[in-house]
Formats: sequence, structure tokens, C-alpha cells
Amino acid sequence: KSSYPPEKNLLTSAFKDLPVTGYTANDFVWQNLDRWPDKTATVCAVTGRGYTYAQTHKMSIAFAASLRTKLKLQNDDKVAIILPNLPEYPVTILGVLQAGCIASTMNPVYTADELKRQIQLIKCKAIITSQISYANVKKALTELKLDIPIILTDNDGLPEGTIKFAEFAQDFGLDTSCLKSVHRGPKDLAILPFSSGTTGFPKGVVLTHESVVAMNQQIADPEIIAIKETTATNQAVLPAILPFFHIFGFNSLMMNQLSLGVKLVTLPYFKPELFLQTLVQHKAEVLFIVPPMVVFLGKHPAVTPQHLASVYGIVSGAAPVSKGDAEAVLAKNKNILFRQGYGLTETNGAISVGKNDDTNHASVGHVLGSGEVKIADLNTQEALGPGEEGEIWYRGPNVMSRYYENEEATKEVLTEDGWYKTGDIGRYDENKYLYVTDRLKELIKVKGFQVPPAELEMVLRTHPKILDCAVLGIPDPISGEVPKAFIVPQPGQTVKEEEILDHVNTKVTIYKKIKSVQFVSEIPKNPAGKILRKKLKEMYC
Ligand code: AMP
Repeated sequence: KSSYPPEKNLLTSAFKDLPVTGYTANDFVWQNLDRWPDKTATVCAVTGRGYTYAQTHKMSIAFAASLRTKLKLQNDDKVAIILPNLPEYPVTILGVLQAGCIASTMNPVYTADELKRQIQLIKCKAIITSQISYANVKKALTELKLDIPIILTDNDGLPEGTIKFAEFAQDFGLDTSCLKSVHRGPKDLAILPFSSGTTGFPKGVVLTHESVVAMNQQIADPEIIAIKETTATNQAVLPAILPFFHIFGFNSLMMNQLSLGVKLVTLPYFKPELFLQTLVQHKAEVLFIVPPMVVFLGKHPAVTPQHLASVYGIVSGAAPVSKGDAEAVLAKNKNILFRQGYGLTETNGAISVGKNDDTNHASVGHVLGSGEVKIADLNTQEALGPGEEGEIWYRGPNVMSRYYENEEATKEVLTEDGWYKTGDIGRYDENKYLYVTDRLKELIKVKGFQVPPAELEMVLRTHPKILDCAVLGIPDPISGEVPKAFIVPQPGQTVKEEEILDHVNTKVTIYKKIKSVQFVSEIPKNPAGKILRKKLKEMYC
């Protein structure tokens, strides 16, 4: 329950308050292990390689002991995990946590420059990756002049000097007594994902064990699409297509489902045929997906009711989904419970989600257990009432502690009385439904992925023919938004659109690529030099 005094106009939770467990995130996942040791925990949709719960647990212990004894890692050391969704992912995450270390999850399709910034910021002591990302990881480390152990999940063709995952995770003869000295409590830091927040570059988001557990308790409420209980004869099957490195995939899909004994069919990438084949072959029951996948399922002619026959629940999150797109999916299987969730990396993934009996697909549902929302007036910060639009502030046990080593950015978003300012605009109605209507912050979301304009603007500014620039997200029917650049050329210089696109798009990962350029005479700024993005939009869009 909120320990703060009641305030007028707050939107309180529609779910039960959470019990305090005192679990670490890894203990939470393993709490019922003895009920389903021989059930499959993970299986790869491409290769069929997989592990039972008992195997995943045993490997994660061996992995933890290897990190401590072979790499001499200590409590609170950071380990970067740069992997697509693979059956080995949970082993690495849980192993890192069981070793008393902190797992920092990064996008495996990042370029060397993008990885460099994050690796440097957290001063990591080891990297777990695969051959997909190895060349970029190596380049990043070489440029940073860092010599950090690299563990690869692949079995064959490992480059010299790298460590084979199996040597750590399957060293079952190893003495694990070193793990007895690992004392982790609820207040200790567990994971360190990245988010650009309201402004600027990606920052490390400090999430404690306690906050990860709170999130997992919040979303396990039986009033939110209940996953069927795992028994000797029954096991729910979920395709794991949301990336585990993003907080939505990390908590809702990986940690929470593993705590429930679910079978996760891991997909390392999204390919329409593979996804559809997985749904049918594994009789997928609940889908955690992002809006472009909702659009694909609802509108793509290749997707038939047959593909969705076994599905009884869909949760869409990470970006807005339209009512029409939700209804297009329901037209293919009217029995599906369709829910929208809303949240952020800074809140461990979710703030609100639809309840079991919800049919209001325009809303992002109700505030989760033990959480509360204030709609803050943009000028006075007063709590507004139903129907009035303002910034969404959230308070609850799942909020981050701070941005990693960034007091200034922390102070901008966390208030002394516990509110986290989301940078999103919204309202609620008389029935406690929350709606997200706009974004106050500069963040662009492409297919649910974060694209911080500051990153693209920094690259643009290195072009000799550019005097000034700004990047905005513009609506796109498939991706939600795509980045567009506004360019003021250097006086007397002519620069072509292709030249600019080439300059930026070779340096950033696929979904951050700028899609179009507009040449303008001026970028509006305030006296402190901050880009006035709203004005820019009004002037040129
Ligand atoms: P991330 O930290 O990557 O999860 O991004 C969080 C941001 O995604 C939020 O601040 C919102 O701007 C946006 N977002 C997430 N879920 C939704 C949703 N259901 N509707 C609208 N925007 C959303």
C-alpha cells in the first residue's frame, strides 16, 4: 500500500496490493522449481535446442560459480548481456544474479559505437554475447582499449581468446561453495538496462531485486490474462518474440513466465513465416507482442484464423496500438482476450494493463497493484481530475532507484515524494481507465524500440556541410514512428538528402535509420540552446 498521505485526484490501483516477499529476483523465479523440474523451460524455434527447468537451474548455478571462480567476479560487478532470444539467455541472466553481479542487457544488433557508450558507462567486467554481435563487441572493446573476457553462446568456430558458454554453464564438477558468500538482498541492484528517458542519451536504469520482484508480482495478478497453471499434464506455451533485452520482454515474458513454469519458445528474430509456424507448431496460448506485430496479425493476408486458433490472450505494449488494429486481430479469433499494457524501462516494464473483463481497447488499462498515478498539470503540477490531460506521474514499488551515476537526470524525473515523471501525456476516466494520448519527451519509438533523437543529432552534427539539425519522429503506419531529420546547411554549401542519409545510416542500427530529410532555414531553440521540438513540428510538419 502507498505509504504516502492520500492526495486529491490520484488514480489508484484497480488490482490487489502486493505482499512483501523479501525474495531476490532469482529466488522469485525459482520459488516453485520443484513443481516442474522436468518440464521444458526454453526451446529454440529455429534449432529445437532447449533445456528443462532442472537443467536451466543447474546450468545457471554452474555459470554463477564459474563467473566467481574463473573470472574472479565479485558482488556488484557488472556483466553485459548482448544476446538475441536464445534458450541460454535465462541461464546467463540468472547465473549473473546468482553470482551477486549486475546484469546489463544490451541490444545485440547495436553497432560498435552504440555498444561502446554503454560498455564504457557501466564499466563492465565481462561480456556474454554470440557470434552475431561478436565483431561489433570486439571493435567496441578495441576502440575503448579494454580487455574484458567475452563468453560466446555458440558451440563452434569460436574466435581465439573467447570463452565457450558451455565451459562455464556445464562445468558441473565445479565447487559451488563460493556462492555461499553471495548475500543479495531486496535493496541490491539486480539489472541495469538502458533508456534515454525524457531527454538526451541512453542512461543506465538502476533496478533493484525488490523492484523486479514487485513488477513480477504485479503482472501475475489473476485478473490480468491468467496463464494456466503448470501441472503434470498441463503446461502453457508462449512464443518469446519480444526481445529479452528490452524490459517488457525481460520481465513479462522471461522472468514472470519462468516463475510460472511456462514453456518459452524462443525466437531469435522476427520473420513472419517463422513466427506463424511457431504459433501453429507449438500451439501458442498467450502472446506478448508490440504494435507492429498486432498490425501484422490483424491485417496481413497471410495470417489466417488457423494461425491464431490456440491463442487465448494477447498483451501489446511498448508503444500505442490503435483500437482498429486490436479489432482486426479479434476478427480472426473473437475469443482472444486482448490487453494493452503501458510502461517504461524506468518502471520495470509496466504501469498499467487491461483487466480480464476489459473490452476498452483504446485505453492502456488500469494501474497495477500497489501503484498510483497522478495526472500533473503541465504548468502547476497540480493533480488533475478525470478527463483532464496532463503529464503521467507514477508511484509504486516497481520504479527504478535512479539513473546510474547520473544525479542530474535522476533529479529531473524522480520527486522527493516518490513520483516518477514519465514524460508521457495522458488522462483517466471515471472508470479508472488510463489513456496515453501524447508524448511530452523527445523520445522516438520505432516498432517499440527507443530511438533517442540526441544520438542521431550527434552523428548529423559531424557532417561538415551541416550547420544545425534536429530529429523528430513522424507517424508511420507500420513502425508507429520513424525518424526524420531537419537540416540547416552551412552557408554557401549544397548538400543532398542521400549524402546525409548515408552519413548517418551507416553508423546506427537498423531501426534508428533516418527515413527522410527536410532542409530548413532555422531550428527553433530556447535561450539556453535547447531544441523546441513542439515548435519545430508546428513550423515544418
Ligand atoms: P521503454 O522504456 O522503451 O519501454 O519506452 C517507454 C515509452 O514507450 C513510454 O514512456 C511511452 O512513451 C511508450 N509506451 C509504452 N507503452 C505504451 C502504450 N501502451 N501506449 C503508448 N505509449 C506507450
